Amino acid sequence: MDFELTKEQKLLRKMVRSFAENEVAPLAEEIDRTGRFPAETIAKMTELGLMGLNVPKEYGGQGLPDTCKIIVVSELAKACASTAEAFAVQMLVNFIIKKFGSEEQKREFLPRACKGELGVFALSEPSAGSDPSSIRMTAEEDGDSYVLNGQKTFISNLSETEGDFIVVVAVTDPEKRQHGGMTAFLIDRKTPGVSVGTIEDKMGIRAACVSELLLNDCRVPRSCVLGSVGEGFKVAMGGLDSGRVGIAAQSCGIAEAALKEALKNAVTRVQFGKRIADQQGIQFYLADMATRVETAYLMTYKAAALLSEGKRAGKYSSMAKYYASETANYVAQKAVQIYGGYGYVRGTAIERIFRDARVLTLYEGTSEIQKIVIAREIIREAEGGFVE
Ligand SMILES: Cc1cc2nc3c(=O)[nH]c(=O)nc-3n(C[C@H](O)[C@H](O)[C@H](O)COP(=O)(O)OP(=O)(O)OC[C@H]3O[C@@H](n4cnc5c(N)ncnc54)[C@H](O)[C@@H]3O)c2cc1C
Repeated sequence: MDFELTKEQKLLRKMVRSFAENEVAPLAEEIDRTGRFPAETIAKMTELGLMGLNVPKEYGGQGLPDTCKIIVVSELAKACASTAEAFAVQMLVNFIIKKFGSEEQKREFLPRACKGELGVFALSEPSAGSDPSSIRMTAEEDGDSYVLNGQKTFISNLSETEGDFIVVVAVTDPEKRQHGGMTAFLIDRKTPGVSVGTIEDKMGIRAACVSELLLNDCRVPRSCVLGSVGEGFKVAMGGLDSGRVGIAAQSCGIAEAALKEALKNAVTRVQFGKRIADQQGIQFYLADMATRVETAYLMTYKAAALLSEGKRAGKYSSMAKYYASETANYVAQKAVQIYGGYGYVRGTAIERIFRDARVLTLYEGTSEIQKIVIAREIIREAEGGFVE
């Protein structure tokens, strides 16, 4: 067991931390206020090779494992949660293509990801959020093609201008649904029939673009099937094992940023003739916050290490996502408390962090859904299955 980052990981962290502090943090307040997607930051991250971080070298990427993704997502999230969100989604889409894509799909789309084109993962629908087995989007076979029709909702990295290629899950056999009746497709944004509906106006991560995806008689060749026909549920859930670790890392970064803000105020604000950091009541808050942040990081790195080693990680990625996202909300809430009224004012970093944290227990599976996954796994283990 080794709790130290490797020399290469430390170098990566140093590089990304400096980038996040100098290029990402200065934009955070403005892009939160205006809701502008930071395309220029994505361009700079592309130059640094970050958008292909988890893409194998043979397709133009860095070929780095999930543990490195944690470093990058958390460092970005400390500076700007919206930028971290865009990057985390890119890592999720890259991971899915790498794991389930055909050689032809990998050769076409992974180099495009490395060049800064944005990937999109479209599973949720207006009537299918926590329960993706109830999706309604259809993909009907027609000769050598499939014709997709339906609506996806809350889709990240998608707007009128953003989003270049899309992993989308549709029903190919309504009788079987998640048991072999759903299929994933990898389609180009420019395919006729693809359009964007409502662009969401969000409470937090305001600069991350999140929109409706509309597919209307969208005809794609059979070669767009990602994985096998009928494997769509497996593709989506397999992707989320990695995606959830990404959101856990985003949560760790946001929680750390909130703790830092709280400490900044606690050591400078004087009431009753002394710093509020010298009040034991405040110290207890700070100790709980710091302990939870540390625990969240440990759980996130453990899940990422299992994924990097190709081991079963579903239980641990759900635990990390559940714990870290709840931690980010706990720490952000306490940080506002420690800030007092000044933390409630628009334009302060802690007010933005508080709003940004709120989504973490919702997307890529709510906290309730993570608990369902964890409970299902530990019960199966108790019954003698799935133990490593
Ligand atoms: C900013 C943002 C970005 C997103 N990006 C994407 C994206 O890129 N791609 C994508 O596909 N989706 C995306 N989503 C959708 C997201 O994954 C869903 O919002 C999430 O899965 C929850 O679904 P829902 O909103 O429909 O809530 P619902 O499923 O309606 O849940 C409502 C409440 O009921 C609870 N609940 C539901 N079922 C149970 C149960 N069995 N037991 C106990 N409680 C239950 C939930 O936990 C929740 O508290 C995004 C969402 C947001 C807000």
